[in-house]
Amino acid sequence: EAKSSGRNRFCFFSPRMNQIAQLNAGVESDLRDALNHEQLFLEYQPIVDIGTGNYVGLEALLRWQHPVRGRLVPHDFIRVANDSGLIGNIGQWVINKACRQISAFADEGIILPPVAVNVSPKQFQYSNMSADILENIATYNIPTGRLAIEITEELLLEHNQEVRDQLMKLRSSGVGISIDDFGTGYSSLQYLRDLPATRLKIDQTFIARIENSSADRAIISTIAHLAHALNMRVVAEGVENEAQFALLRASGCDEAQGFLLGRPLAVNELRNLFTGLAPKVETGAP
Ligand code: C2E
Ligand code: MG
Ligand code: MG
Ligand code: MG
Repeated sequence: EAKSSGRNRFCFFSPRMNQIAQLNAGVESDLRDALNHEQLFLEYQPIVDIGTGNYVGLEALLRWQHPVRGRLVPHDFIRVANDSGLIGNIGQWVINKACRQISAFADEGIILPPVAVNVSPKQFQYSNMSADILENIATYNIPTGRLAIEITEELLLEHNQEVRDQLMKLRSSGVGISIDDFGTGYSSLQYLRDLPATRLKIDQTFIARIENSSADRAIISTIAHLAHALNMRVVAEGVENEAQFALLRASGCDEAQGFLLGRPLAVNELRNLFTGLAPKVETGAP
């Protein structure tokens, strides 16, 4: 017994790890198929101006309708996508799909608020992101201000000048840049200084604690002050109830996103939301 566990200790692949490796290999080959068979799709979650209640943005969120496992969310497959390199192709698909949908809505006479697309740091390795994005924007005739990207601070850990140049190029072309999940991971004030960002999205873990923690309230209002001083708009993520919303307004946040304001919507639901009267969320603002 002791002998076998001693042996296991020096094994690189335990049976459990082997299982995981096989599972991931399965996901990887399924994901390849997903790209070829149109199993991926986007949902769009509204972002609301806290002061006016107007819809001021949409975040595109990736989903996968798996033929056997059903509807999957990024947590189920983004890691495999990143590790396998498939994220390069998937990312290009996401950008192209978002642009096609913005343009299809415009053809119907529906002008969507700016759409933000999540971009993994790895995508910058596989393609020239800024060129890809600007090419799509031109092809589908989308005003540059109607598209934004969301990046995490992780992206700049490498202090890569090439990445920074691409971001500058996008920014100077009018594409929005949001820093996602701010306050977690390797937050560094240096990134805030050096990044040409237009929006700062405060991670939902802070919002989840805002009602019960004065420390979290202090952190949120300080982030908001700092972001404003650097000419960025501040977005609160994961807003789920009225009490959080009121505290976020008092903390100086500009915009809110979360189940309280709207769940991620399928394209048909999005059409319903933006057809007819100019949509607005009741914020209780004076
Ligand atoms: P994220 O960019 O921070 O996106 C926000 C996540 O929070 C989404 O999860 C959204 O559904 C969820 N959410 C929104 N409101 C609430 C709320 O009120 N409460 C709670 N608990 N959650 C809320 P989702 O769609 O599962 O996406 C997870 C992450 O996957 C995203 O986090 C983003 O980092 C990544 N992701 C999504 N789409 C893409 C994509 O197209 N490409 C890449 N590379 N990553 C993506
Ligand atoms: Mg995001
Ligand atoms: Mg986020
Ligand atoms: Mg997040």
